[in-house]
Amino acid sequence: MDRTSGRWIRETLAAHDLRLHKALGQNFLVDANIRDQIVGACQLTPADVVVEIGPGLGALTGRLAESVRLVLALEYDRGLHALLTADPPGENVIPVLGDARSVNFDDLAATYTDGEYGRGGKPCKVVGNLPYYLTGNLLWRLLVERVNASLMVFMVQLEASGRLLATPGDREAGALTAVVQYYCRTELVRRVPRTVFHPAPAVDSAVVRLLKRETPPVEVPDEDLFFQLVRASFANRRKKLANSLAVHMPDFSRETWVRLLSAAGIDPDRRGETLRLSEFADLTGLAFRERRGER
Ligand code: SAM
Repeated sequence: MDRTSGRWIRETLAAHDLRLHKALGQNFLVDANIRDQIVGACQLTPADVVVEIGPGLGALTGRLAESVRLVLALEYDRGLHALLTADPPGENVIPVLGDARSVNFDDLAATYTDGEYGRGGKPCKVVGNLPYYLTGNLLWRLLVERVNASLMVFMVQLEASGRLLATPGDREAGALTAVVQYYCRTELVRRVPRTVFHPAPAVDSAVVRLLKRETPPVEVPDEDLFFQLVRASFANRRKKLANSLAVHMPDFSRETWVRLLSAAGIDPDRRGETLRLSEFADLTGLAFRERRGER
């Protein structure tokens, strides 16, 4: 059975009286070539454990399962999860009912592999045709919580792919750009027209691949402080950097931020999106020492 067949999807939804939830980003892939390109981009090996976010009716799931040891298919919708459980698209597919916004991915991988994968174990791979509402927060969490994943391949809204693929300092850059670039090398796999989904969403998509770096391109003395600083710098795009930092990281006064920014060679009147990764790293170093009372 081809789970990317539009006809099969419509008939299956009707047969089980399942309604689509727009709010959950339920747009199902109906193109086998694009499915194969997504799976190809995952560089799968037989030893891999894959966590798939939002398997839906299983468009990607069975194809992933053919090449790996285990697919943990994490679905939030009870109806879709029940369907996948009743008829899993592979013997090595475990449908898991859960919420990608809160699940602990390392625990999930460890639970189903007796601790061999997940935190402290081997890295898994995370894949998904993501519901669009989830992208930013999910990626932030996967990275900032240092989920043990060597590679991630996601279908995201085209606009979001721009933020993931941008370089800090580009006009499209956001807080996520800096964190993604810190941890990963990013690549555009392909653009995807809206017409290959049922139902068609209002915008086009793109598939991106994130490969975890061995070592980050810049050194920071405290990663959590770095993330906090990046987030605060983008918290209000119209605000000048010194003002934004003073509001969102009030441990230091505006004057202190102006001094730290100047010491890092950054004009305090600049805006967060203009900062390069190295500038964020320099500022983190200065803030770290200031916090410890070292000047
Ligand atoms: N993988 C399928 C495909 O390619 O046709 C479905 C992709 S559809 C864009 C997104 C899927 O994510 C839906 O099945 C939806 O129910 C599920 N989903 C939505 N929110 C979720 C969440 N918080 N956690 C896990 N899955 C979620």
